[in-house]
Amino acid sequence: MSGLNPFAIAQEQLDEAAERLGLDKATHELLRSPMREYHFTIPVKMDSGTTRVFKGYRVQYNNARGPTKGGLRWHPEETVDTVRALAAWMTWKTAVVDIPLGGGKGGIVCNPKELSDGEKERLARGFIRAVGRELGVHRDVPAPDVYTTPQIMAWMMDEYEVMMGHSHPGMITGKPIPIGGSQGRGDATARGGVYCVREAAKKLGLNVENASYAIQGFGNAGQFAATLHAEILGGGTLVAASDSRGGVMCKTGLDPDALIRHKRETGSVIGFPGSSEISNEDLLELEVDVLYPSALEGVITVKNAANIKAKISCELANGPTTPEADKILFEKGVYIIPDFLANAGGVTVSYFEQVQNTYNYYWSLEDVHQQLDRKMTDAFSAVYDMQQKAKVHNRLAAYMVSVTRVAEACKLRGWV
Ligand code: NAD
Repeated sequence: MSGLNPFAIAQEQLDEAAERLGLDKATHELLRSPMREYHFTIPVKMDSGTTRVFKGYRVQYNNARGPTKGGLRWHPEETVDTVRALAAWMTWKTAVVDIPLGGGKGGIVCNPKELSDGEKERLARGFIRAVGRELGVHRDVPAPDVYTTPQIMAWMMDEYEVMMGHSHPGMITGKPIPIGGSQGRGDATARGGVYCVREAAKKLGLNVENASYAIQGFGNAGQFAATLHAEILGGGTLVAASDSRGGVMCKTGLDPDALIRHKRETGSVIGFPGSSEISNEDLLELEVDVLYPSALEGVITVKNAANIKAKISCELANGPTTPEADKILFEKGVYIIPDFLANAGGVTVSYFEQVQNTYNYYWSLEDVHQQLDRKMTDAFSAVYDMQQKAKVHNRLAAYMVSVTRVAEACKLRGWV
């Protein structure tokens, strides 16, 4: 039993795939743990004149298919096991969309809501001074994740370039567009997820134009999903949305743009005119066509899985569903688009950003959307075909696709 330790969950998921694939013992062992990890402290001069010391991690999980790649999360409850799990999932994510990168992840234990912009900048630069020499376009490439932003990526790139003495835009992705960011990176995670919903709906014969949907976690991924769902699928009704303070619902529909404005102005979805309140837990159990878990891990568990009524759960968040819950949802017929497939649009456009940085030639927004659609549709098909062939639940099918690809790279390199 994995409990709710995200890394134990990630290992349990891998174990199931390894068994189904008949993976040899050495490869299984190699893929079960991070290749390398860094633990460090970052002293930061606070505005008050005192110094605070923050704890940070960077995990380079596996680089058989290419340099490790993965976001940086700034969260007060960050733990090394969360970072390890996220780094493992990045490995499977880059493999499922078949881009030449491995998986990594980083985190700093902090509450960014309590930090001024100056303190955030000093923390970002301190992170690079602590671990920058282990990063780089051919080594390990960070990006934004929960509570980190393009501005934070810009400070990090600047500090890295000062340290190295020349330009290195591809050492980090999710940068602002004027300094090497890609068109289309901002909404890429949600866009990739909605492309998968479109493909899943075709397979399930679901009429998406009239579909209802609910979003847990109205942040970067969740807000873009709110607008892109209707834009890409040609309609739909957003019936509920939530953030860390709670949720709002309206059966006849919440206006996504107005809700985004309300969140920007007040800091929360709570109090949105014309809505009633709903808890984060109850939101997950609503009878909707599409549920987008878009907050944090471990929210759909053995306790509530039997009550989930959505037809499709598109996991924009990493790790929202525990292995026990996966089995219950599969038996109930809830169609899961597993996290590392559903939210792979972000890393895919991050990869496009690196490609553009290397060429020093930048693509149009249409080019990015077209290439992303192709990558996501191909990845969805690979997982769908595996699911049909192996008759397993979707997450296991996605694991089987990714683990096969990473294991092949390990073998070709002569590691196992
Ligand atoms: P974000 O910080 O922009 O948004 C997170 C949102 O979740 C916020 O609105 C916050 O209020 C809300 N939240 C926090 N705790 C909550 C709780 N207990 N219940 C309900 N809501 C809660 O972060 P994001 O970038 O949108 O990331 C969200 C998820 O998507 C994470 O799991 C992240 O790893 C994953 N993800 C993001 C990207 C990306 O490109 N942004 C890419 C891949 C995966």
